Amino acid sequence: MSVRIVIDSLNFVRDAGVRHGKISLIEFKRLHDLLFDQNGELTFQVTGQLDKNNKPGLNLEIQGYMQLTCQRCLGKILHCVDVNTFLLLAKSEKELNQADEDDTLDVILAAPDLDIIDLIEDEIILSLPISVRHAEGECSSPASSENIISDKTNTLHPFATLALLKKHEPKE
Ligand SMILES: [Zn+2]
Repeated sequence: MSVRIVIDSLNFVRDAGVRHGKISLIEFKRLHDLLFDQNGELTFQVTGQLDKNNKPGLNLEIQGYMQLTCQRCLGKILHCVDVNTFLLLAKSEKELNQADEDDTLDVILAAPDLDIIDLIEDEIILSLPISVRHAEGECSSPASSENIISDKTNTLHPFATLALLKKHEPKE
């Protein structure tokens, strides 16, 4: 069963609301195609607050690690998620359109039933690189490596890269 966290966004800001917790990667349905595996979780905190112009908004922090699939070799890439963003709440479509013209603002429409998980998923997708793949020369596509007589060094290469990344993983 999937977890839903729904807030009444403007009331949440008025009450200086704070919600935090952990969400399993398996909850982020739209991310599934990008994930090498769905194990793991992200921590989040959403805080209702006013910006410097006294406009209501949500401060969103998301942190954690996930394994993405390299689009070249289909191997795994450890990706660090570290999002800290402020989303202005527009009270109407008109206000949303006006604020959208300002590139420095992230604006969403205020809703009495705003789904935080959806919002977090949006922000994660926006934070991902356009093309998820190992650095140039660090891997080759399965199709092209079929032409090369398989030797051990070649097969082990993606894992050698992972070993380098592993030391950045948080200790449980
Ligand atoms: Zn790769």
